[in-house]
Amino acid sequence: MGFLSGVECSICGAVHDPKQLLTVCDKCGQMLVARYHLDRVAAAVTKADLARRPPGMYRFRELTPLEDGEEPVTLGEGGTPLLRLPRLGSHLGLPHLLAKDEGQNPTGTFKARGLGMAVTKARTLGVRGLVIPSAGNAGGAAAVYAARAGLPVAVVVPRDTPDAAVAEALLAGAHVFTIEGTIATAGKVVGAVARELGWFDLSTLKEPYRLEGKKTMGLELAEQLDWSAPDVLIYPTGGGTGLVGIWKAYTELAALGWVKGGPPRFVAVQAEGCAPVVKAWAEKSPVTAPWENPVTNAPGLRVPSPFAGRQMLEVLRDTGGAAVAVSEAAIVEAQKLLARTEGIWTAPEAAATLAALLRLKEEGRVERQARIVLLLTGAGIKNPPPHLPLPQDLTGPSDTLLRRVKAALGSS
Ligand SMILES: *Cc1c(COP(=O)(O)O)cnc(C)c1O
Ligand SMILES: [Zn+2]
Repeated sequence: MGFLSGVECSICGAVHDPKQLLTVCDKCGQMLVARYHLDRVAAAVTKADLARRPPGMYRFRELTPLEDGEEPVTLGEGGTPLLRLPRLGSHLGLPHLLAKDEGQNPTGTFKARGLGMAVTKARTLGVRGLVIPSAGNAGGAAAVYAARAGLPVAVVVPRDTPDAAVAEALLAGAHVFTIEGTIATAGKVVGAVARELGWFDLSTLKEPYRLEGKKTMGLELAEQLDWSAPDVLIYPTGGGTGLVGIWKAYTELAALGWVKGGPPRFVAVQAEGCAPVVKAWAEKSPVTAPWENPVTNAPGLRVPSPFAGRQMLEVLRDTGGAAVAVSEAAIVEAQKLLARTEGIWTAPEAAATLAALLRLKEEGRVERQARIVLLLTGAGIKNPPPHLPLPQDLTGPSDTLLRRVKAALGSS
């Protein structure tokens, strides 16, 4: 029977039956949200029980939509480390700086959590095929979980999507299509394909369970912080499921009485070339407006009209948060800084969190003693930077080789 009490519209509250395959609200077309019998969860499991379970996102099974006995489609997602960043922290004068490294997930990004969960529920509820628009990483993750579930999948991505994500999807046997434009253009095609073929549309927040997978980042974070929240959580924001998911985790944990204190202050980070949430936040608008000509080298942030704009802005308001746009140059610098000080090669989207922190620090908007978490959403290897210096090549007579190596090392 599981612990899901129902699936509810986030706007009009209409209740939907989780035994059915659900997309968006029947009544108003807005996003649906899973609700739980939290009293039953509290009666069924304690924090001490959780501590004895193996790592990974299904240790929080009672707070997921899985029914009794339902087997997840899994590659071992979740259980990512919360790393202390002492060298970077001392460089910045922020002794309590932490990073949740979602790059250590299968597929190299946190998208594994959401798509693992969504594909699990879609398989259980009997879909014929899956179709997804993506900036890259979601498509790759959808493809691998579809392969694992034995379901056909079609992925539509912008033409300039990083090679690794396209390769990941192709290798997993997905039908991959590229399109001129952004994820928004891809989304229109996907909607039409889903209607025509009767395949299931896995678009961000157009089904309720990707959010539940991403929510497990917040459950895990709370547990790793001994059941509390950081003061500040910095999140690179595209479609917004990660931000809204982590907030939902803290809301449910608070209702269970499992966490001390309130949720973190959420900082939504976007790229200057595509910042609909930052713009709406600055203008105190309750909804985002579509961003014209979105450009950024952080593909996960190139989401010009996020379906959950309203919900993200609510989270920022609710937690006394902020929204910050960072430049491409600042993202590149932050990526280098994190790699050099802590050895973490993170995705450009993730590096944007550090770029934002540097900005906030400069503007005097973070306190020295604050416990700050950078949510590093993906691994750098999914999207290598284009313009690195070439390594020195060592062909030639061996004595000159050694001399060249010594000269190079001596001057460092
Ligand atoms: C998708 C993605 C994002 C954006 O996350 P949302 O939850 O959609 O806002 C950030 N970083 C990476 C690496 C991504 O793949
Ligand atoms: Zn509704």
